[in-house]
Amino acid sequence: MRIALIAHDGKKPEMVRFVLQNKDQLQQASLFATGTTGSHIEQAGIHVIRLLSGPQGGDAQIAAMVATGELDLVFFFRDPLEKHPHEPDVQMLMRLCDVHNVPLATNPAAAELMLRGF
Ligand code: PGA
Repeated sequence: MRIALIAHDGKKPEMVRFVLQNKDQLQQASLFATGTTGSHIEQAGIHVIRLLSGPQGGDAQIAAMVATGELDLVFFFRDPLEKHPHEPDVQMLMRLCDVHNVPLATNPAAAELMLRGF
């Protein structure tokens, strides 16, 4: 299983908590993360393949992987209370998940349910 992990700044602690809580299952998958999210997860001791930081194109890289069938799940913990300079990339990523029918969880509760489904 190939999973993308992305968290906006306000949601990074929730992402790290989620990853640690589901460590056993997630460590059996190939994990890809945007740059800063990835460094937080690695500091918690979980290996991920780090892409560019979101605002530098990391969300676009994940979106391209979705479009080319390289990801099975996307966990994107968005912060709905903040503005993001890369909002167009965020929208593109979500759109491509829908275009290619790739499961997308935008909060830990949905991600938890998706993991249980696998
Ligand atoms: P980051 O990117 O992990 O590099 O912070 C996430 C995002 O803001 O999309």
